[in-house]
Amino acid sequence: MAERERYGEKRLLRSWRKSYLNGLEEALDAGYKILQQSGTALDAVEAAVVSLENCPLFNAGKGSVFTADGKHEMDACVMDGSRLTAGAVANVTGVKNPILLARRIMEKTEHVLLAGKGAEDFARSQNLPFENEDYFYNAFRYEQWQQVKGEATTLLDHSEKKFGTVGAVAVDSAGNLAAATSTGGMTNKRFGRIGDTALIGCGTYADNHTCAVSCTGHGEFFIRAVVAYDVACLMKYRGLSLAEACRIVVQETLKQSGGEGGLVAVDQAGNVVLEFNSEGMYRGSIDAGGKKNVAIYMQ
Ligand code: ASP
Repeated sequence: MAERERYGEKRLLRSWRKSYLNGLEEALDAGYKILQQSGTALDAVEAAVVSLENCPLFNAGKGSVFTADGKHEMDACVMDGSRLTAGAVANVTGVKNPILLARRIMEKTEHVLLAGKGAEDFARSQNLPFENEDYFYNAFRYEQWQQVKGEATTLLDHSEKKFGTVGAVAVDSAGNLAAATSTGGMTNKRFGRIGDTALIGCGTYADNHTCAVSCTGHGEFFIRAVVAYDVACLMKYRGLSLAEACRIVVQETLKQSGGEGGLVAVDQAGNVVLEFNSEGMYRGSIDAGGKKNVAIYMQ
């Protein structure tokens, strides 16, 4: 109940911008702390995403949107660019941090993607924390769901036209790249719908030779355009820079197909690209010296 009051809709709207920027800064700090202590890019993206999953403002973990059945079904994915290994989870309920589950799948099984009950059983076998429905309740998300409940439409988490899925990319001091993404998907989603976030190459991709990419937006378009891998392909096969590859994929390919959203990406040289074709995207970056940048709208 305290959560409902604290993050009640009115107050959320009033302090909207500041709260989101704080949430982004906390995630950047969590990742940076690891990199500063010579940790790996993989640990850094995991820490950043866990921080965002624990924040009720973003559409992942605690802040996940409601499905048509009034539940929370989460997708997440992680990829290690140094080994090209990946782990992903789709349609899990109650798992506190789906990104931790994705990483366990990558490291403790011979599989890449687990879904639903099987994935939850595996999470239990790994002693990963679960939370009850109250933990995932959020008045703002509930209201978003009420707007479309009973209709055959899904809603993007359009918090003032910004996407709420969370993701992180990083390069570490050894030059290794990693990417991680986590989401509650789309409000009012039905029939076990799975979005791009759970699919390697669509919402998430990392390869030391090209880039690490994490996406947010209307998943169906990102799946059809294989967005994250397309950025890597343009670099690999056409020799494009990270910036040019991201621009082509987000502003041309994706836009022409009607897909709205964006991505965060980094290459081995530490070039960072935050590209989106929507009105805004909650985003942030931190460089090796600790200089932070957070933003929402186009600047
Ligand atoms: N890409 C996510 C999905 O389609 C939604 C989002 O990014 O907001 O599940």
